[in-house]
Amino acid sequence: MYTVDYSQNEAQSTHKQLIVLDLNGTLVYRQKRPNGSRVLIPRPGLQDFLDFATKNFAVMVWSSAQPASVLGMLDAGFGEHASQLVRVWDRRFCDLDGDYFGKSSSVKDLRRITDGFNLSHSVNRTAYKSYNGYTGVNTENPGQWQLEDIILIDDSESKAYLQKDNHIFISTFSGQTHDSELGVLQTYLQKYLDNKDSFPHLLDYIKGSSWLDYRKEATRVNDEEIEIEMSD
Ligand SMILES: [Mg+2]
Repeated sequence: MYTVDYSQNEAQSTHKQLIVLDLNGTLVYRQKRPNGSRVLIPRPGLQDFLDFATKNFAVMVWSSAQPASVLGMLDAGFGEHASQLVRVWDRRFCDLDGDYFGKSSSVKDLRRITDGFNLSHSVNRTAYKSYNGYTGVNTENPGQWQLEDIILIDDSESKAYLQKDNHIFISTFSGQTHDSELGVLQTYLQKYLDNKDSFPHLLDYIKGSSWLDYRKEATRVNDEEIEIEMSD
C-alpha cells in the first residue's frame, strides 16, 4: 500500500521544476540471488543525489515495475526521501504494448503528468485489489506542471521516446562498486541552479547544454563508465 499522502506533498510543493526518476537501472539495481530472491543495491551517491534533488526540485518516481516492487525499492533505497516525493507512479501509469503481467515494453508519456492523468484513466487500474487507494495525482491542481519544466532521468531510451528533449539518458547501473554517474548528474543540474535566472524553463538549460557531452567530459572514478549503451 502507498502509505504516504504524496498528493499533499504535491499540493504543497513550491517548486516549478519537476524531476521524474526511474528506479531500476537508474538509482538502484535489483540483483537476483541464486535462490530467486532479490537484493537491492543502491547506486553509489544515491543519498547525496536525493538530498540534492528533493531540496531543489519537486521529485517524483516513475517506474515500470509493479507497485509492490516499487515500494520495496523505495523502502530499501530512499530512506526518509521516500516521504518527500510528490508522486509515485508504477507500471499502471505506463503505456504498455502488451500484457500487464508479461514482458511488455513500456513507455512513460510525460504528457500524462501535465494532462491530469490518474489511476482511474489507466487501462490497468484494476490490476490489483490492493493499491487502489492511491490515485497518483493531486487532483486539486492538475495543471501544476508544465512540460518545459519536467525532466525524466531514465536509463532506457525507449521509455522516453515520446519526449526525447526531456530525457536525461544515464548509464545503466548494474551493481558496480565504482560508479560516479549520479555525482556527475548532480553537478550538471547544479550548473542549472547556479544560472537559473538565465533560463525561463529547465528545458532551456537541457537543450542548450548537452548532458551527453557533459557526462563524457566529466571526471570519473572509473574510465569505463563513460561508455553508455542502450539498455533495451
Ligand atoms: Mg530503468
